[in-house]
Amino acid sequence: MSQFSKSARRWVAAMLFGLPGLGLAAEEIVVYSARNEQLIKPLFDAYTQETGTQIKFLTDSEGPLLEKLKTEGAATPADLLITVDAGNLWLAAKEGVLANVQSKTLEANIPAHLRDPDGYWFGLSVRARTIVYHTGRAKPAELSTYEDLASPKWKGRLCLRTSKKVYNQSLVAMMIARQGEAKTEEIVKGWVANLATEPLPDDTKVMEAIAAGQCDVGIVNTYYYGRLMKKRPDLKLALFWPNQQDRGVHVNVSGAGITAHAKHKAAAIKFLEWLSSEKAQNLFADENLEYPANRKVKPHPNVAAWGSFKQDTINVSEAGRLQVQAVKLMDRAGYK
Ligand code: FE
Repeated sequence: MSQFSKSARRWVAAMLFGLPGLGLAAEEIVVYSARNEQLIKPLFDAYTQETGTQIKFLTDSEGPLLEKLKTEGAATPADLLITVDAGNLWLAAKEGVLANVQSKTLEANIPAHLRDPDGYWFGLSVRARTIVYHTGRAKPAELSTYEDLASPKWKGRLCLRTSKKVYNQSLVAMMIARQGEAKTEEIVKGWVANLATEPLPDDTKVMEAIAAGQCDVGIVNTYYYGRLMKKRPDLKLALFWPNQQDRGVHVNVSGAGITAHAKHKAAAIKFLEWLSSEKAQNLFADENLEYPANRKVKPHPNVAAWGSFKQDTINVSEAGRLQVQAVKLMDRAGYK
């Protein structure tokens, strides 16, 4: 559709709903999103269709969006921030760009460990960071926990993504929360000693290195596994759910928070509640092969096929609280 007809459509909507005094003013929400357009646009369209509320949005990476919110301050047009990783959501709350919200609907729909205890942000989909292995060169019976990947039997067999990525900072932060700094540092040193290659730039590269025979095991977010296997179903890779006898698999969220200076706060809260509802949760999670945060909603069949697992129910906000400590620990351990 041409730019002209798009703006013409918006203008028509304004004529129909925006005339003052008719009591029909269309509600509007402005969203800043670190999730890309392809993932969020279908949701916005569905919501507009259902409620008439218009949604304007801007997408960018999480860093620039947070900077933008800080710079704009009270003048920001944004009502809602959508981003990935509890570490980023936690940072946004700490930087003062989010508002706390008390909502019975959100509290009922989103499990307590997947949202901020003070209501500054809410997880909307769950991503599991788990073990991936080569089905020809590693056996599930050899695998057990994240900690076990530090044992000498994995020497020269492990591939990891760089410690610069927030996903690994969150994983290590959660390990600190669960077992303290000294034990976690010992484990991370063990990982580094077992590395078959320098840390790799992304999760897909980790799996490609395993498939190519450079290493036998790694740690990745499950949706990258789903994407890669869709393209390359021939690859001899499988997921393993670690720590099932103790705390469970490390999970993180993508989620959202109402901005501190929202101009359409009530409308934005209504939209956030809708995002957590049974009808929207599959739309939010499935396109990126994630798990719905709302427990009443089943994952997409392709995701469910990876099997069910026990997840760590420590509050994901710990990933933010302990992030700086995790970064320093990884640095001391020589994890680049
Ligand atoms: Fe990702």
